[in-house]
Amino acid sequence: MTFKENHKIILYLVCYFLISFLGADFSTKVESIIIWPAAGMALGILLILGLSYWPIIFFADVFSFILNGYPVNISLLIGLGNMLTAISGMYLVNRQIGADFFNTIGNVLKFILYAGILSPIVSTIFAVLSWKMGVFYPHGLWCFIFEWWFAQVAGIIILSPLILTWVQNNNIIWNYKKRLEYIALLILIAFTSYLIFNGQIGNNPVNALTYKYLLLPYYFWLIYWYSQREIATTTALVAIIGIWSTYDIGIVDRTTVDELILSSQFFLCFIMATALILSAIVNERRQMMENIARFERLNLVGEMAASFAHELRNPITVVRGYIQLLSNRPEQKEQKEVFTTIINEIDRANSIITEYLLLAKNRNLDLKRKNINKIIQVLFPLMQADAIHSNKSIDIKLGDIPEFLLDENEIRQLILNFVKNSLEAMGPSGILNISTYMHDNKVVLVFKDQGKGIPKDLIPKLGTPFFTTKKNGTGLGLAVSYSIAARHNAVINVESNAKSTTFSVSFDPI
Ligand code: ADP
Ligand code: MG
Repeated sequence: MTFKENHKIILYLVCYFLISFLGADFSTKVESIIIWPAAGMALGILLILGLSYWPIIFFADVFSFILNGYPVNISLLIGLGNMLTAISGMYLVNRQIGADFFNTIGNVLKFILYAGILSPIVSTIFAVLSWKMGVFYPHGLWCFIFEWWFAQVAGIIILSPLILTWVQNNNIIWNYKKRLEYIALLILIAFTSYLIFNGQIGNNPVNALTYKYLLLPYYFWLIYWYSQREIATTTALVAIIGIWSTYDIGIVDRTTVDELILSSQFFLCFIMATALILSAIVNERRQMMENIARFERLNLVGEMAASFAHELRNPITVVRGYIQLLSNRPEQKEQKEVFTTIINEIDRANSIITEYLLLAKNRNLDLKRKNINKIIQVLFPLMQADAIHSNKSIDIKLGDIPEFLLDENEIRQLILNFVKNSLEAMGPSGILNISTYMHDNKVVLVFKDQGKGIPKDLIPKLGTPFFTTKKNGTGLGLAVSYSIAARHNAVINVESNAKSTTFSVSFDPI
């Protein structure tokens, strides 16, 4: 663990403690809190840092309840319940979704169902135990159960996406104008929320809350021009304003669930979920368009390259043959070295042509049932030697994957291209991780390097023939890999930040 990572963990710990403490403090004052943000943060922490960080959640919760005057046994019970909720949420999300929490409609829905709706049941059960042990609560048991559970649901649905989208990459290209626009949007939303939740519109707070739909246009704006990170950030802001201005409305003598509280809670969860889903759809669309554009360019260049390359190859072969003949004549003995150089250069030209030919779309594939793991194992010594030569190393982690129909030569080429780029992007002592695993019935092959990353605005250009940022680059490696992937019906995904780049190739095994 590095020094910087330690800092991050302390930051998470302090934030979690503060959120939990404020939550407990708040709930002693208003008798029921409509959103329990600590639940969302706890899940976020475990998903980002891993299961072994459970003590952060448990101890921070226990201390914050004790400090707020709750008896020790009840604080322990609540802490235990909240921790187990986070653990079960983490387990379900890891199992059902994987690492891309919100990238498809399905994943957003699964996240809401498993982490948001189901896992808080655990905490609610512990809360009922604490109620039996004498926590003061003026309303009926069912009211207590429902409010406890729904506060956790709202906390998870609103806060975990905020944390997770801030940690993961987002695909917005920020510039001065974009930032200014977002700040303006935030101010407008804050103002509108203030009007709505403070009863400035309509003649009383209850009526005013019906004007919540005024927030919708802002959300459309966010969905179309911004990413899920901004959606989550904005919703958190609206939630803070909402809680701030409605908490005293909650203190009324009642035996049923307060409809006003329920209505704002429900609204916040609903708009967050809907916006995340729509944003996933917009993103998927956008990516599809980018891919189509890429393939069109690729096909055109590929076809041209194929016909050129083919025509060039014949004269070159003839030239090579004659030169070889010449070089074998006794009177040319002294010139041997010159001839070797000429022949080597001709061979190099030939191999470049071969690479161009690989771009061609309609090449015949030599499909055989093979396991990608085997191909990696065979290539590994070669790649490792290459890496060690420049003081870097390669780690492989091969999961259990089935054989499927593939062209071994092409897959080799694809692997070598990715490895070459990764090694070139990393400084000394960089490590490249190559792994394979199954996900959603797809075979996934991942290259994760510790290189300098790819700037966001260049990502759409990847795979375009001749696109290169290197002085001596050809800009063909990725273009070839993308066309190989397309011929194998595989999809390539890229994620990159300033410290690492991940290329993953998902194959549909047939
Ligand atoms: P070349 O390697 O000849 O430049 P490629 O098609 O292989 O051509 O790659 C195109 C560009 O994509 C590279 O110039 C580089 O800027 C970028 N790139 C590809 N892979 C990586 C990586 N792992 N890390 C950083 N940049 C990368
Ligand atoms: Mg390359």
